[in-house]
Amino acid sequence: MKFYKISCTLALCFLTYVGQAQNTKMNTFINSLMNKMTLEEKLGQLNLLTSGDAVTGSVVSTGVEQKIREGKVGALLNMTKVADIRKAQQLAVDGSRLKIPMLFGLDVVHGYKTTFPIPLALSCSWDMDMIERSAQIAAIEASADGINWTFSPMVDIARDPRWGRIAEGSGEDPYLGSKIAAAMVKGYQGDLSKNSNILACVKHFALYGAAEGGRDYNTTDMSRVRMYNEYFPPYKAAVDAGAMTVMTSFNEVDGIPATANRWLMTDVLRKQWGFNGFVVTDYTAINEMINHGIGDLKTVSALALHAGTDMDMVGEGFIGTLKQSLQEGKVTLNEINIACRRILEAKYKLGLFDDPYRYCNPERAQTEIYTAAQRQEARKAAAETFVLLKNQQNLLPLKKQGSIALIGPLADTRENMTGTWSVSADIKNIPSLRESLQKEVGSQVKINYAKGSNLTADSMLEINSTMFGRSLHRDGRTAEELKKEALAAAAQSDIIVAALGESSEMTGEAASRADISLPDTQKELLAALLATGKPVVLVLFAGRPMTLTWENQHVPAILNVWFGGCEAGAAITDVLFGDATPSGKLTTSFPQLVGQIPVNYNHKNTGRPLAGNDKWFTKFRSNYLDVSNDPLYPFGYGLSYTTFSYSDVTLNSNALKAGGKITASVTITNTGKTDGVEIAQLYIRDMVGSITRPVKELKGFQRIALKAGESKQVTFDITENDLKFYNSDLKFVAEPGDFKVFIGGNSRDVKEAAFKLQ
Ligand code: BGC
Repeated sequence: MKFYKISCTLALCFLTYVGQAQNTKMNTFINSLMNKMTLEEKLGQLNLLTSGDAVTGSVVSTGVEQKIREGKVGALLNMTKVADIRKAQQLAVDGSRLKIPMLFGLDVVHGYKTTFPIPLALSCSWDMDMIERSAQIAAIEASADGINWTFSPMVDIARDPRWGRIAEGSGEDPYLGSKIAAAMVKGYQGDLSKNSNILACVKHFALYGAAEGGRDYNTTDMSRVRMYNEYFPPYKAAVDAGAMTVMTSFNEVDGIPATANRWLMTDVLRKQWGFNGFVVTDYTAINEMINHGIGDLKTVSALALHAGTDMDMVGEGFIGTLKQSLQEGKVTLNEINIACRRILEAKYKLGLFDDPYRYCNPERAQTEIYTAAQRQEARKAAAETFVLLKNQQNLLPLKKQGSIALIGPLADTRENMTGTWSVSADIKNIPSLRESLQKEVGSQVKINYAKGSNLTADSMLEINSTMFGRSLHRDGRTAEELKKEALAAAAQSDIIVAALGESSEMTGEAASRADISLPDTQKELLAALLATGKPVVLVLFAGRPMTLTWENQHVPAILNVWFGGCEAGAAITDVLFGDATPSGKLTTSFPQLVGQIPVNYNHKNTGRPLAGNDKWFTKFRSNYLDVSNDPLYPFGYGLSYTTFSYSDVTLNSNALKAGGKITASVTITNTGKTDGVEIAQLYIRDMVGSITRPVKELKGFQRIALKAGESKQVTFDITENDLKFYNSDLKFVAEPGDFKVFIGGNSRDVKEAAFKLQ
């Protein structure tokens, strides 16, 4: 034992020594490089331009080649082909005075060519290994195509499903969000000595998901206690996991846009969390501060640099104005040097100074992208992300026999399978649900297809919801004609599978909705299909929680498939026919009505909560006249083809000592006839605090595979650390007193026990 300890200490000393030696080598290299750099060349490193391809704003960079030659570009975004990236890198390396290689960034958000489900869907798997692996595959593929920097993970906590970008994150919970943030950073960055790993960029720092009214880019405003306890944890977890870059958010924080917010970028990020990578702005975020109303371009650029922002995405505010600001004493050379050094360090750590082309291997591009094995992993992953919302009388799984009417605007649309932010996916060649069904079960099941309706009656809304080539090929026939055809297909079939919901671009950036229900014409179609009396399965495509109160009342089976990536069609087929059993659980609560938002499970209690024996409306209680406080489907909810029962919770002690731990256990039994996976969740409530505490907070979860009839004991350790929160002095503390612990299959249906922290 002693020997073991000594050798561990020696190993640690050795690693620290190696780390320091590497740092010294890096510092010597960068010092010598920076000694040669002119001010313009230093500012050039802070400049990130577009290659002129896909953009998310209205600005596209111009004169890029010349600027690269002049050493005025530190990085490019939105290039995707290895040959093009190689050419651009060559321009920097052979064409510029100091031969400094560039970074190549892209939004590789849920896969590269092999696309995985959208992040919100991935989070519903609660499967950290799979999520990490999906990021690793994304890194392998992107790096094989020349990319060495991804603008992911997006870890913004979002509790407003009107906000289109809820699709890009991991939902409403800081604990789960933190685990996922760390898993993704590990997946992307892994071991940077390998050229199959790339820089991660945690975004959007900070609070972007709390945009007022769910309207994109909108103001956020919240207390610091809420920031630290509910919104910051996933960013911090990504930084703790080693994320080497951070992206600023578009919104303001405490009245100062994040990009110019020194408290955020320097005090919190660097001083409190120890972040030592570089900070990049979001797309033209510096320039947008003119509209925010805090100054002209020169002023906002100086403010951003001073705040701790290092790289300017596309806006060219830094390169265009910082020289003058330096002459006027508005910024210091030291501030410019610091930003430049941070960017050079990232390039050094990526190995670009050793070999600027280490990510430009055309052979890798041929063999490592969109492989059959990687697509197989995406298929398995997708099936894990679907959430079975309802399954009356075990309508699902279907039998591979008879006939199915496959109806709906989402049933046969290749372009809408991958969801938002799949800029590198080859969307025209991804099988639609209809094609996958035909291929997988077409020899056993007769499939009668009809489109049934357009996305929505409003053609303008459809145009705006199907941008970037995500067309649903609007049908010129009237709603009546389309419905008639669908009813004829239904009449010839035993069962109806209605593939309805949102188009891919109904969520994502600048895709907020004020009405988050099933679009009008689809709802009418669904009602007509139900009126046939045939069994209807709703396969719901969605990038956000939708309001499904009517559907929940009337449709016997609802499978929420989000946007499942390039293998979505096959994965949906697997689940519909029981080759895979659903296990996904919601990571955002689904409201009954849009007016209930926010309806997150981890809310506070108020002074007038509903009491246990109250009706859902009780005068002088915190509630609504016209709808209960409950979500339609709570956080953590999701059904399986089998059922699970939970025993009572037992604790090995009712007293937790500071520094100690207690163990909570339950026995979970698979009470059905199918093998399945249950996601067991542990929640804690701090009964009395120096500040008010949420009614429940997720503090643990486990994916448990159980064969039909099998029981397993599941244990969770609870330590003082799990009870800590930021108090009103923003100190991270656990306060002695009473706690409740809850364990269950969702945040609502739980068994509980109590303990004290001494
Ligand atoms: C988005 C970012 C994205 C960037 C670069 C912005 O509009 O907000 O999430 O990384 O564009 O494409």
